[in-house]
Amino acid sequence: MTVLLGCIADDFTGGTDLAGMLVKAGMRTVQLIGVPTEPLPDDIDAVVIALKSRTNPAADAVAESLAALRYLQEAGCKQFYFKYCSTFDSTPTGNIGPVAEALMQALETDFTIACPAFPANGRTIYKGYLFVGNELLSESGMRNHPLTPMTDASLVRVLQQQVSSPVGLADYTVVEQGAAAISERFAALRAQGCRFAIVDAVSNQDLEAIGEACADLPLITGGSGIALGLPENFRRRGLLKRDDAADRLPATGGLRAVIAGSCSVATQRQVAVMREQAPSFHVDALELARGVEVVAAALDWAREHIEQGPVLVYATSTPETVRAVQTQLGVERAGLLVEEALAAIAQGLVRMGVGQLIVAGGETSGAVVKALGVTGLHIGPEIDPGVPWTVGLQAGGTSPLALALKSGNFGSEDFFLKAWSRLS
Ligand code: ADP
Repeated sequence: MTVLLGCIADDFTGGTDLAGMLVKAGMRTVQLIGVPTEPLPDDIDAVVIALKSRTNPAADAVAESLAALRYLQEAGCKQFYFKYCSTFDSTPTGNIGPVAEALMQALETDFTIACPAFPANGRTIYKGYLFVGNELLSESGMRNHPLTPMTDASLVRVLQQQVSSPVGLADYTVVEQGAAAISERFAALRAQGCRFAIVDAVSNQDLEAIGEACADLPLITGGSGIALGLPENFRRRGLLKRDDAADRLPATGGLRAVIAGSCSVATQRQVAVMREQAPSFHVDALELARGVEVVAAALDWAREHIEQGPVLVYATSTPETVRAVQTQLGVERAGLLVEEALAAIAQGLVRMGVGQLIVAGGETSGAVVKALGVTGLHIGPEIDPGVPWTVGLQAGGTSPLALALKSGNFGSEDFFLKAWSRLS
């Protein structure tokens, strides 16, 4: 079977969010880190290329997105999806509008939707206005975002500023009538010369109806919520199996380890809970700065304990300690020193035979994935909301490595202990 859905996400965690959503909706999905040069693995239904283009200059974001599109077109994808944040993170010059227009031009299509709604996370759209929980976008914390402050909740106005062609609205009076009415509204907007439709949605049922109405659009743009309704379109056409366990991962084995580089509240607790039950090694930022051979010491220590069960290597410290370290070393230097050390420890652990690895911290995960030469992730079963098990795609065909990459504040207290049972 060929790949059905080709997605381009404007940041990494947004890509994971979408990939997880597609897996839950029954599509076997791979997330790739940047535009790949290698062919896709077999037996997947959807691919998400995660870029880092949200706050790049618009021209760069367009160029990267077009390169991603070319890769997806060559892979034979039948429909394309541009994923951005559910709070429509962008500036008056982009990048949502310019990227969407460039993708439309490349796909030779004159109409698409823009729907960042994600009701399960409190992002709803009514009369074209985006709400975050009970507040308008422009009254939510997003109005103070350091890079993409959102000061207007009207998505029609916001998108219109970023594009050259007219933006219309498919409002709730239409959406609540279901897929056929939504399709009719799309046709009417198109006839009026609109090339974009902001689409209202306040529930998953709305997203499913919108998804159905988008079955024939070459390009869809939105948050991850709108992905809910798309797999069913492929099933209706007999292109996607109904009963496939989309979250099944290739088998992995080997030793188990946790690397924690996050100092977020949830990770602090998770580290404390695991420390009570498993051998643990603390990576000290000041020792690293003094040139102590911390990586070698951590690996020597791990060699002694790891055969007996999962081990924990952590840099996680209290806010006071982190502040003291940062005052002495500078924020950036401290962060990099710790990230590089943890990444080197991860490499050593994998060489030692670790085949199942949990990493806590967004930046930390990025550093570890890079050091291990992981170019993509096959998305598997969810451990806790927003954190799936994955299997890393690595150049050179080393034995498969199971990875759980956890954003610092995600996961329950016993995450590091319970996660293993979700691997088959
Ligand atoms: P989160 O997902 O919680 O934001 P990240 O890994 O993205 O976690 O960020 C945590 C940052 O803090 C990393 O750059 C990491 O290297 C750094 N760090 C971790 N431990 C310490 C420490 N003890 N002192 C200073 N910086 C640290």
